[in-house]
Amino acid sequence: MHNKILIIYTGGTIGMQPSEHGYVPVPGFEALIEERLAHSHHALLPNFDMIELAPLIDSANLAPHHWNLIADPIIKNYDKYDGFIVLHGTDTMAYSASMLSFILQGLRKPVIFTGSQIPLSELRNDALDNLITSMLLASDTTIHEVCIYFSGRLLRGNRSSKVKATGLDAFDSPNFPWLGQIGLHIELHSNLFIPQKAGKFINPTFSDNAVSILPIFPGMDGEIVDFMTASDRSKAIILRSYGVGNLPNHNQSLMNALQRASDKNIILVNISQCLQAEIFQGQYACSSILNKMGVISGAEMTLEATYTKLHFLLSTGLNAEDVQAMFSNCLAGEINQ
Ligand code: ASP
Repeated sequence: MHNKILIIYTGGTIGMQPSEHGYVPVPGFEALIEERLAHSHHALLPNFDMIELAPLIDSANLAPHHWNLIADPIIKNYDKYDGFIVLHGTDTMAYSASMLSFILQGLRKPVIFTGSQIPLSELRNDALDNLITSMLLASDTTIHEVCIYFSGRLLRGNRSSKVKATGLDAFDSPNFPWLGQIGLHIELHSNLFIPQKAGKFINPTFSDNAVSILPIFPGMDGEIVDFMTASDRSKAIILRSYGVGNLPNHNQSLMNALQRASDKNIILVNISQCLQAEIFQGQYACSSILNKMGVISGAEMTLEATYTKLHFLLSTGLNAEDVQAMFSNCLAGEINQ
């Protein structure tokens, strides 16, 4: 018997149509999918139901409070389907896939995020293959984690980043091997799948302004940090440092401002600006000061995983100290341990 999957269309290029202002997501995408799949070997594909978010979201407009809307239909329909596809815009897909991996801990079914660089409605597109291959992957019961499938690559969602704005191979997982390669054959590297573990789904309410991201740049002024931490809603800052975690330790204005933030119990996490990287805080004198300030290393985590992990931990009601203590633990395969 065929597996049955649920497809959730959230918005994004895959289902967009041109308008006088440029591409916009348009409701009623299921009809176009049915029409395009009519020419495929439909019998090989799993049966599917589809739901659409209303309103649909260009993922550039996505904010933390939208993550619940994506997780809800999976949690509510979890027992009814063998797998799930989330059709999502590419701009913030890696954020949503990372967050869903934290919400859906203990997942025993595939959740495959995909989208496209060219809409399905166009003659020449990458949408049809991304969709069809995702449907096959979402009905593969050996997969039990949140993944991104895009252009022949099956990637762990919380290890992925969008690396190309226009290339069809838009996603990669720079610090973790691909979970699968889909070319002539579907080759899954099941030895890399997350070991099944007990866990329960938690879909907390997110506060949009809790976490900020600060790229370090030459000559920056510490006032930026003061500005970022002025509101009571600000709970954490991700520092995007140079190389293996280096900051300009001679920049007294920045160092003083970071110390003030740390004294206010703002959680400070250090990840690299380099796409392929790991943090070694203290390897250079210019980063050892961060250890004294209580800055946490984000190790080799992606920006997207770091951002969503902080949001997730903060939204479960933990205080700053507990979030700091929990942060380095691996929740869903996002960090080496
Ligand atoms: N702006 C679009 C989105 O993220 C881009 C895309 O889907 O490729 O929704």
